[in-house]
Amino acid sequence: ADFGYQEVPYEEKQKRVAGVFDSVAAKYDLMNDLMSMGIHRLWKKFTIELSGVRKGHRVLDIAGGTGDLTLQFSRLVGDEGQVILADINASMLKVGRDRLLDRGYGGNIQFVQANAESLPFPDNHFDVITIAFGLRNVTDKARALKDMARILKPGGRLLVLEFSKPTNPLMSKVYDAYSFTALPFMGKLFAGDSDSYRYLAESIRMHPDQETLKEMMENAGFSDVEYHNMTSGVVALHRGFKL
Ligand code: SAM
Repeated sequence: ADFGYQEVPYEEKQKRVAGVFDSVAAKYDLMNDLMSMGIHRLWKKFTIELSGVRKGHRVLDIAGGTGDLTLQFSRLVGDEGQVILADINASMLKVGRDRLLDRGYGGNIQFVQANAESLPFPDNHFDVITIAFGLRNVTDKARALKDMARILKPGGRLLVLEFSKPTNPLMSKVYDAYSFTALPFMGKLFAGDSDSYRYLAESIRMHPDQETLKEMMENAGFSDVEYHNMTSGVVALHRGFKL
C-alpha cells in the first residue's frame, strides 16, 4: 500500500518544532553522536532488542527522522516484511531517505510524511510501533498514543524511547547543567544554531517522567506497560502491548 503524503495542521508548538528540525536536519546525525557522546547508539540497540521484530513483521517508526531504527528493522523484517518511517518534517525525511538509499536500503522501506497525532494508517495494521526521541515534540501526546493503539494489531507492541527523569540527584544536577549549557554551546559551535538546542533542553525538562508516561500509555489503552531506565534515567524505554 502507498500511504502517500498528508497535509498536517500547524499549531504554535508544531511551528516551533518544524523550525527546529528544518534547522538541524543536515547536521542531525553528527550532533546526535556529539551530544550523547555516542550513547544514543546503545539506547537504540536496547530498543531493537526489546522490539521483538522478526521476519515478515510490519513495523512503523514514528518520528523516524534520519532512520537509525528503521535501518535495523529493515534488516530484521526481511523481504516479506515492511518498515514505514513516518515523520512530520520534510527536511528530516529527505535526509533520512537519502541516507538509507545511499546505504542500499529501500526495498522494504516506505517514507511517509505524517503527524503522530493523526496517523494515516488503517486499524490493526502493525506488529510493532516505535517512537524514539519523538514523543516530547508532539503537542497532543494522549491523542497520539491513542492513535498508535488504534493502528497496532492485537498482540502488537509500542516502544517509546525518550528522555526522562534522572533517578539520582547528582546525575540530575550534572545533566541539567549539561543540557542547559553544553548543548546550546555545541549547537552554536557545530551547527551554528544555539536556539534549537536550547529548545531541546527545554523540551526534555518538560517531558513527563517515567511513571507519568506509563500512566499515559495505560490511559491510551496499552497493557502490561513497563519501563527500563538507561543511563540513570536520563533516558527511559517504555513498552506496552495492545491486547
Ligand atoms: N527517531 C529518530 C532518532 O531517534 O534519531 C529522530 C528523532 S528526532 C530528535 C525527532 C523527530 O520527530 C524529528 O525528525 C521531527 O521532525 C519529528 N517530529 C516532531 N514532531 C512530530 C510529530 N508531531 N509527528 C511526527 N514526527 C514528529
